[in-house]
Amino acid sequence: MDFQNHFATRLSRLKDEGNYRYFADLERRCGDFPQAGCHRDGAVAPVTVWCSNDYLGMGQHPDVVGAMVQTAQACGTGAGGTRNISGNAVHHRALESELADLHGKESALLFTSGYVANWATLGTLGAQIPDVVILSDAKNHASMIEGIRHSRADKRIWAHNDWRDLDRQLAALGDRPKLVAFESVYSMDGDIAPLREIVEVAEAHGALTYLDEVHAVGMYGPRGGGIAEERGLAHRIDIIEGTLGKAFGVVGGYVAASAATCDFIRSFASGFIFTTALPPAVAAAATASIRHLKASGTERAAQKARVAMLRDRLDRAGIPHMANDSHIVPVMIGDPVKCRQISDILMQDWGIYVQPINYPTVPKGTERLRITPGPLHSDADIDRLVGALGQLWRRCALSRAVA
Ligand code: PLP
Repeated sequence: MDFQNHFATRLSRLKDEGNYRYFADLERRCGDFPQAGCHRDGAVAPVTVWCSNDYLGMGQHPDVVGAMVQTAQACGTGAGGTRNISGNAVHHRALESELADLHGKESALLFTSGYVANWATLGTLGAQIPDVVILSDAKNHASMIEGIRHSRADKRIWAHNDWRDLDRQLAALGDRPKLVAFESVYSMDGDIAPLREIVEVAEAHGALTYLDEVHAVGMYGPRGGGIAEERGLAHRIDIIEGTLGKAFGVVGGYVAASAATCDFIRSFASGFIFTTALPPAVAAAATASIRHLKASGTERAAQKARVAMLRDRLDRAGIPHMANDSHIVPVMIGDPVKCRQISDILMQDWGIYVQPINYPTVPKGTERLRITPGPLHSDADIDRLVGALGQLWRRCALSRAVA
């Protein structure tokens, strides 16, 4: 086979469809977020970032940066291997205690990312619980889908957020062990799951519950414990999965659950056992970030205010955006080429960075700009974004393309 030709042909097809992914070369500047430098053609242009998942700007918080720097200076850079071989760093244990406390669980277990946490945990539970059936929400993240697929467990897909469909499917499974996997905040549409109904249905059928709170931890609930904390349901959910890489501003993933569940995953998950652990400095920075957000609601309140202001300004400018109760503001374009063009013009003419979201991240025909306002966006930033979108909207007559 001519491998290179195969790769080139597939890539050029992707480009023809408008689905090829171009990444901006950004340089974040600590203390200046959401402003950054964009490297292009040998020059550095100033840009305002509008699509970061460092939702609260914690990646530049002095406590978080300080903990990372001090720990790297005290302990060096890497963890030195897997925890299986090199042992725990005390920083891993401290972070796991912090996470267990955040979710009101007995225990927590760290992974190198949220993706790996989902893949490894669902993969292990699906493979190691005899005869289990995994019931997965139709819009679950790729990492959950891959974990379930990898487990080779029997699976059922239930209609997105439709607890009645879940109820019907659970009832049809009789006495078999069942695991219900779902998310709280869905990252592309920004909609929030009917958690209470799902938990009640799962409890009625004796199913284990697995909740991905990746886009909610740090962001919702009085201590940033997520939607489950906000709705007083954390104690009724068996396994809560989260990331340290979004609102907490660092990197890494975890599950929080009973001591036996975490020990089970620790003992059987290859995605935990066979990979180098997070650096101690990363763990220390994440601990500092979680501690800060447990005690401070300031960032969450400021972020909500920014989201409300942006939505209001978009409404006044006649720019349609998908309604939801979260911090994610999807502006629908509905065409991959237009979506990319708008993103390029925003960057080149306005110094505004919003990455286009195209297939396969979202279904074809629902391409969009996914805007994530944060506490550090100023009134002037918002005015500039809405002004630019308004001009583009008129120029491209986009209303016809909007779903
Ligand atoms: N779960 C969901 C719902 C996500 O959207 C993502 C990433 O965006 C992940 C898991 C993976 O988390 P991480 O970025 O920490 O790997």
